[in-house]
Amino acid sequence: MYQKEERLDEKSLRELQSQRLVEQVKHVYENVPYYRNKMIEKGVTPDDIKSVDDLYKLPFLSKADLREAYPFGLLGVPLSECVRIHATSGTTGKRVIAFYTQEDINLWEDCCARAIIAAGGRKDDICQVSYGFGLFTGGAGLNGGSHKVGCLTLPLSSGNTERQIQFMQDLGSTILCCTPSYAAYLGEAMKEKGIDGDKNSLKIGIFGAEPWTEEMRRDIEKTLGIKAYDIYGLTETSGPGVAFECQEQTGMHVNEDHFIPEIINPDTGEVLPIGEKGELVFTAITKKAFPLLRYRTRDICVLSRKKCSCGRTLIKMCKPMGRSDDMLIIRGVNVFPSQIETVLIKEGYTSNYLIEVDRVNNSDTLEIFVELPIEHFSDTIKDVAKKEKELVGALTAMLGIKPTVRLVAPKTIARSEGKAVRVVDKRKLH
Ligand code: ADP
Ligand code: ZN
Repeated sequence: MYQKEERLDEKSLRELQSQRLVEQVKHVYENVPYYRNKMIEKGVTPDDIKSVDDLYKLPFLSKADLREAYPFGLLGVPLSECVRIHATSGTTGKRVIAFYTQEDINLWEDCCARAIIAAGGRKDDICQVSYGFGLFTGGAGLNGGSHKVGCLTLPLSSGNTERQIQFMQDLGSTILCCTPSYAAYLGEAMKEKGIDGDKNSLKIGIFGAEPWTEEMRRDIEKTLGIKAYDIYGLTETSGPGVAFECQEQTGMHVNEDHFIPEIINPDTGEVLPIGEKGELVFTAITKKAFPLLRYRTRDICVLSRKKCSCGRTLIKMCKPMGRSDDMLIIRGVNVFPSQIETVLIKEGYTSNYLIEVDRVNNSDTLEIFVELPIEHFSDTIKDVAKKEKELVGALTAMLGIKPTVRLVAPKTIARSEGKAVRVVDKRKLH
């Protein structure tokens, strides 16, 4: 059920990481001139890196480096050794392309298989992969992981909700893999057909690729009648499966034998002690085609070495609290969309909302469009106004600034089949 690397004692893990890190640094120094130059600039040579304790000496890589080195500048092997590319969804700008050797794909699929197993998936499961297939890493990663576990794999990709439900019903899918926002959408569509909760065959959900709150998790678990597990990753580190949740559902175990995590102060680059909140940085120590060292993810997160009841010794990361570049600064106040989602779901609304930020007369405005639950659709204008006022109160208490809330008719906010777009910042468009 486990791979032995998932439950090494701390000393053995550090030895394994150190040995892989030393090799990886040599590999990168010899084969990636872009990073070699960064090392030379910082006055570091591979001889300075003897163990994980020396990791801090290495220079960082950022998304800006990836864009500068686009497309081949960070390649670690000849192109003829590569068998595939994937690309970021471009949520925050120009796409980034990652390259894979056959062995890189093999290791990545191992990571995804670990995630499925940790969520309780086994050989006799029927695993519906409803992440997008193609350049996006979600579909390919979970598809490969599902094969490794030996599940019957349904590569549906995202979209075509009717077909998703049809296959799920006809074949009896027990595991659903997709983004949490698509899971919520599928749940809503199934509820309308009367196949929610215990009326479907699903047992497990493996949801990730975008931020989602605990409140949203509980909502999806209830609607679909499943246990929902978080999975994390990014194209730059292969894709999903860098970290995954186990049955304890208290954070995601990082596959530390492949990726060494660090938390840094995003402003100074200083490494922070475990338990402090900061920017998550990963060093890939096994993949060869796109071997990123100290890659700054911009995801804000906390690590924990607290003992886990599942027996895995791999360090845990909390749910990323959104990317540093998801954070909105509105009238000088830091606002994360996840804070808004937490309030909405607590107050009985769904994850179908849209945040609009604008600047009127030199002052920032925050407008939140929220769907009325169907059962309240026929409420009087007075009742709706009262609800809006209550929401404004709850949101103001959470955010520290007062938003405008607009309750709109059910199903009027666009649903997402992949990563949801929930923020429109019009200040950037002017
Ligand atoms: P893009 O950067 O264009 O969205 P990716 O598809 O590679 O490209 O997305 C990776 C990012 O998605 C991560 O850096 C993180 O911000 C987000 N992400 C992935 N999984 C999760 C998760 N489980 N929870 C929160 N955010 C996640
Ligand atoms: Zn665990």
